[in-house]
Amino acid sequence: MAQQQETTAGAAAAPEGEFVDDVTDAAAREEAHTERGTARPVTVVGNPVLHRECREVTEFDDELAALIDDMFASQRAAEGVGIAANQIGVDLKVFVYDCHDDAGERHVGVVCNPVLDQLPAERRVLDDGSEGCLSVPGAYHPLARPDQAVVRGQDAQGKPIAVRGTGYFARCLQHETDHLYGYLYIDRLSKRERKDVLRQMADSTPRYETVPNE
Ligand SMILES: [Zn+2]
Repeated sequence: MAQQQETTAGAAAAPEGEFVDDVTDAAAREEAHTERGTARPVTVVGNPVLHRECREVTEFDDELAALIDDMFASQRAAEGVGIAANQIGVDLKVFVYDCHDDAGERHVGVVCNPVLDQLPAERRVLDDGSEGCLSVPGAYHPLARPDQAVVRGQDAQGKPIAVRGTGYFARCLQHETDHLYGYLYIDRLSKRERKDVLRQMADSTPRYETVPNE
């Protein structure tokens, strides 16, 4: 996902027990992945790999670890806060993130085979902040999404994990999970809004390398 247009910062909150600690050593872990990896060009809207459900990760091996490193390197090169495997052309259910929450806490991690928890209706508070996507370069549009999210899946070694996010990080977890099921955020907009976003994209030049569509 693309960076937030305006940033907010506040007090730090400690991660809770049930959820993975993706805060400790966030900068060092991101740095290590990025150093091992190689940035790859980013696929853009229209590329078939973005518009179908990806395959489940079943092998938690060195090849997956190398893919995750490349995803971190690609995310850094494109100045993103989250990237899904199909955004670098790989048909596998895995995303990485490097994203701040509403408390200003930086979260860095990876989720394989993510599934979002359904929030009980009474706990659904919608945030209609602006959203952008590395695969729709240069465009942003407001999109209402729940302001908290829990995603369950596996880490790079196959261990079950749960990740909880608030604010912009909640938006990121939902956005990246959507990618792996073949949906872009623009698929959640009206026809008119989608057209506006695609016009913004057409009028801009990406600041990172992209994969040209046929
Ligand atoms: Zn995206």
